[in-house]
Formats: sequence, structure tokens, C-alpha cells
Amino acid sequence: MNRIHTLIETAAQMSPEKMCMEAPNGEKITWNQLWLAVKQAADDLVAQNVKAGDRVVIVSENCAEAVAYFFATSLLDAMAVMVNARLTPIELDRIISHADPSAVVFTTSISDAATEHAQARGADTIPGVSGDVAVLARSGSTPEPVYQEPAEQVALLLYTSGTTGAPKAAMLTHKNLLSAAKAAATLRGIVPTDVVYLALPLSHIFGLIALLSVCFARSSMRLEAGFSVQRLYDALQVDVTVLPAVPQMHAHLFHYARAHDMPQFAGGPLRFVSSGGAPLDPVWKREAEAFYGLPLQNGYGLTECAAGVCATLNELGDPDISVGRPMLDSVLQIDLDANGAHADQGIGEILVGGPQVMKGYFRDPTQTDRALTSEGFFRTGDLGRIDPEGRLHIVGRTKELIIRSGFNVYPVEIEATLTEHPDVIVAGVVGRATDGNEEVLAFVKIDRDSSLDEATLKAFVQERLAPYKRPTRIILAHDLPAAPTGKILKAKLIETFMDQLEEHG
Ligand code: ATP
Repeated sequence: MNRIHTLIETAAQMSPEKMCMEAPNGEKITWNQLWLAVKQAADDLVAQNVKAGDRVVIVSENCAEAVAYFFATSLLDAMAVMVNARLTPIELDRIISHADPSAVVFTTSISDAATEHAQARGADTIPGVSGDVAVLARSGSTPEPVYQEPAEQVALLLYTSGTTGAPKAAMLTHKNLLSAAKAAATLRGIVPTDVVYLALPLSHIFGLIALLSVCFARSSMRLEAGFSVQRLYDALQVDVTVLPAVPQMHAHLFHYARAHDMPQFAGGPLRFVSSGGAPLDPVWKREAEAFYGLPLQNGYGLTECAAGVCATLNELGDPDISVGRPMLDSVLQIDLDANGAHADQGIGEILVGGPQVMKGYFRDPTQTDRALTSEGFFRTGDLGRIDPEGRLHIVGRTKELIIRSGFNVYPVEIEATLTEHPDVIVAGVVGRATDGNEEVLAFVKIDRDSSLDEATLKAFVQERLAPYKRPTRIILAHDLPAAPTGKILKAKLIETFMDQLEEHG
């Protein structure tokens, strides 16, 4: 098994009639049907002149077509570039011109956003697995070399969501993805009878690895077009056994349940719940565990490491707020000399090695050299320490570190303090340069019916944090700019709330 599509091919041979997915439109698809759809999609791409070494941009929201075209690119030894349909035309243009694809696929059956992009670009409509798709052939793209070795052949280009800077395309090989699929399936103990709830976007590594782990274990999935708290709540009562999600999804669920007087999960077959992709607030962990009656396992990962690096496997109620130990073959190092390190406390930049580490950034040797050490370790840009039990604790990110009056301020700590306030749903903290110093700015999301104000929240923080860590301003809002996974886009916070910052500054 050295290409990702062989996961589907094998499942179709071993369990052809077994249900593979309930698609967002309610259609039930077996493993054999999915494999036929993958082959059909590959034929469609060949008809558009896609060849080995080419890139195929797939502009989608979660649907069966996105899955079929993703695996079809593997069948052709081309590379999939998974892109969220909700990007603006300018953002999509930037990706298309950088990825230099020979075809762009738009999953129009389910997504108005993909349909708008397809229409604007004059793409041709063809039949898909459970609806139409639109395909745009492009001429003049330059193919990349093709390798037999799964560790060399790139299967996927993924543009990082750019929460802290300009997007870059991580090149993930077949070996990276197959190792990550195995690690995720093993960690979650996924077996063929499991039903995995998949609302994480397939344009993001956490969604893709959850998809691949289902294919690896030949279980089945409920694929959701987007996150709906009501649909999740309902699905949990029916058949979902495994729920991978980002912290924000868990928080939405228990807030929703509380608002509807259902403070505890009513029961159902759910057996494994995990959180990953962003820091897990300790308050959220407690609340989520109280709601599910199950431990909430925290996983740490990045696009460049095909998602899975570390994860916890704790008992219910364990106060552990680490991200656990390395998964399968991942290896950790802490660089105590990096920017923001606190060598005396064992805090340094986290470096990751192992079979999941990307090959590099697409057509960007400078960024690749910066990101990968000569031993092939990836510089994560995250700051952390390893405790005596071998568990990794994330302390912050080198890029987000705030240096105030000579002291290191880690935004994660301040965000966790702010969310201790019952009215604060989520918080984002960033630094802003002021006369040779840096000030701490906080942005919090509160409910529409909350009467919380800045002065009250500042007083709350004052009791809990040393003066140099206290935000000079706390902006309260009903919405914060967020990536498709729900992660706050910190680079956009100051710009979004500039008026408010100036008004009362
Ligand atoms: P960019 O790298 O362009 O800023 P991004 O941060 O959204 O984009 P992703 O690969 O989506 O990139 O997210 C990876 C980052 O998310 C990690 O570097 C880390 O900072 C954070 N992260 C992921 N899981 C966890 C976790 N369990 N706890 C704390 N932080 C986490």
C-alpha cells in the first residue's frame, strides 16, 4: 500500500457493500460506490488532460465529490490542492497562480460558494457522484517530477490557514498521509463498526486525516457540509461513536446544551472525543467532559506534520492540560536557544521529526530551509516544554510571543484567564508595538445577551494576572475573525477592531 487511494481500493475489495459515508445530502455511499466514484473522477480529470505530476485544485465544502476527486488525484499520481470554497476570489486567485494546476474542480452540488467561483471562471459542468461538479482545465502548467517512493511522491498541497502570516503550501507525501492516518486510527482505536463524525473541513489537515483514518480502519463516517451545533447534537443521539473536533466546536455544543437546559449529553454510543488544532482551554475541557461524561483527549498537530504529533489518552476528570506524548513514530526535540525560549524553565521551540514531517514548501526552497533542520526536523514555531512524564506542554508560539517591559508574555495564559469568566466564550490576545515596548491587547467574544463590560473584565483579570501580563485594552465583541476551523485569525484582530481601539484608546 503505497498510495492513499489504495485505502479505498482495498476497502472496496474487502467490504464492498459496507456503508462508507452518509454524505451531507443524506445519501448513503458504500465503499464500492466510493471506489467507482474515485475511478470516474480520475477519468474526468484525464479527459481534462491532467497527468502525473500535475496539481488539481479542489475548491469545495465537505461532500462526496470532494472525497472522490481527492483520491482520484492519487490514482493519477497528481497532487490534490484542497481549498475552502469560502475563500474570496482574490485569495483563490493567489492559490491558483501559486499552485499552477492543470485543472480546478468546483464541488457545485452542495456549495453556493463553489458555484459562484465556478460561474465567475466559466468552468464546465459535468456529473459527479451525488450531484454536479464544475471543472476548469488550464493549459501551460508545469508538471513536477513523479517518484515511485511514497516518501518522495507528493499527494497533497495544503495552504496553511495563515493565522499568523502569509499562506505557504506544505507538500505532504503519500507516506506522510498514510502514517498520519494509521496514527490517528490507532490512537482513537477506530474499528470497522465505528461511525466517525466529520464536520472538520476537508480543506484542512485535521479534516483530511480524520477522513483518512476512517478509510484506514474501514469504518464509516457522517460527513457534514459545515458545522451545525444542532446537527451534531442530534447525530450524537443516533450512531456517532467517535468525535474529532476543534475546541470551538465542543464549546459551541456545551453552550448550546446549557442554553437549552440539556447540561449533560443524553446518552448514545459515543465512546471517543478529541480536541485538536488549537489550544484547549482548561475551562472548556472541564465543561466538555462534564457534558459528554467522557474524557476529552487533546491532540497537538500542524499542517506541516500531517496533523498528528502528540495526544493525550487520559481517564475522565484527569486535570492534565498537556497535549500528551508523541503519537506512533513522532519524535520531539526542544530548542532552548530559539526566540522566546526560557531555558531555565525548559521552555523552547518544539521541533518535530518522524514519518509525518512534510517534504517542504511547494516551490519555496527558502522557506523550506528555514522550516526544516538538516536532520529533517520541522521547526514548529510553537514554544513548549516536556514534563518528567514525557508529556508535552504548549506554552505559546514564537511568532505570537509578546515582550513587555523585558518580560515574556504568552498569549495562551491570558486567553485562558479571560475564558475563566463565565460570559467569555473565546479570547484572542496579541501584542502591539508602543514606544519601544509592546502592549497586550485582548479581544473576547461574548453572547449577545451578556452585559459584561471592559472595566468589569479588567478587574477580573487584575485579580488573576501580574501587572505586565494585563491587557491594556479588552475589546468585547459578538464575533471575532476566524478561520474555517473556528480558530481565531489573530493577524486580523487589530485591523478588524481598529475603530474601537482608537475610540476609547
Ligand atoms: P499558520 O501556520 O500559517 O499560522 P495555522 O496556525 O492555522 O496557520 P495549522 O497547521 O492549522 O496552522 O495549526 C497548527 C498550530 O495550531 C500549531 O502550530 C499550534 O500553534 C496550534 N495547535 C494545534 N493543536 C494544538 C493544541 N492541542 N494545543 C495548542 N495549540 C495547538
